[in-house]
Amino acid sequence: RNVERLMSLISDLLDLSSLDSNEVMHRTKVSTEEITNRVLKQLSPVVDSRKHAVKTVIDVPYVYADQKRLEQVMVNLLDNASKYTLQGGRIELKWNCESSSHVVFSVKDSGAGIAREHQTRLFERFYRVDRARSRELGGTGLGLAIVKHIMQRHEGSVSIESELGKGTTFFCRFPIHSLVNS
Ligand code: ATP
Ligand code: MG
Repeated sequence: RNVERLMSLISDLLDLSSLDSNEVMHRTKVSTEEITNRVLKQLSPVVDSRKHAVKTVIDVPYVYADQKRLEQVMVNLLDNASKYTLQGGRIELKWNCESSSHVVFSVKDSGAGIAREHQTRLFERFYRVDRARSRELGGTGLGLAIVKHIMQRHEGSVSIESELGKGTTFFCRFPIHSLVNS
């Protein structure tokens, strides 16, 4: 298990370093339904074992994004929603349009929520709200830092809305104008 953990730490650090050095995003037209189903399938062992009810809402048929990096964003956010929500919770994955300028992917959970003082720091490397508990759950605290970098490389952004005791929603915004490869 320690070797696996070390491998995943190294792989996360390599990803961050590549994203830092302005890795090129290979944007293509990605079907939101297909990529959502792929991510759900990949994480079904985690989500099923925790007996979460997952709902998907797909109001936008596609997004222009780097498929591999987008998948990584979605896996990280769904993994978090599942890890930090008690058994039997509710998770919603949603694709929608925000005015005519952005496509938004959001992940909403019915977990414990995150206090305001932590919300701005979550995207820092290695930052974890509850160090002891987070360590128990595995992971290294690089997931959201990677999500932030990937969204920046898409000229997009990631933001959070959370209330203690109610749950958390992460929003990833992709600009619609970015149709060309960059
Ligand atoms: P890794 O993603 O590297 O496996 P991690 O999940 O601890 O480890 P991040 O994904 O960067 O790291 O998340 C940072 C911290 O933010 C987590 O440790 C947790 O404390 C908090 N967090 C993230 N998502 C949620 C969520 N949906 N609900 C509550 N807390 C969250
Ligand atoms: Mg994580």
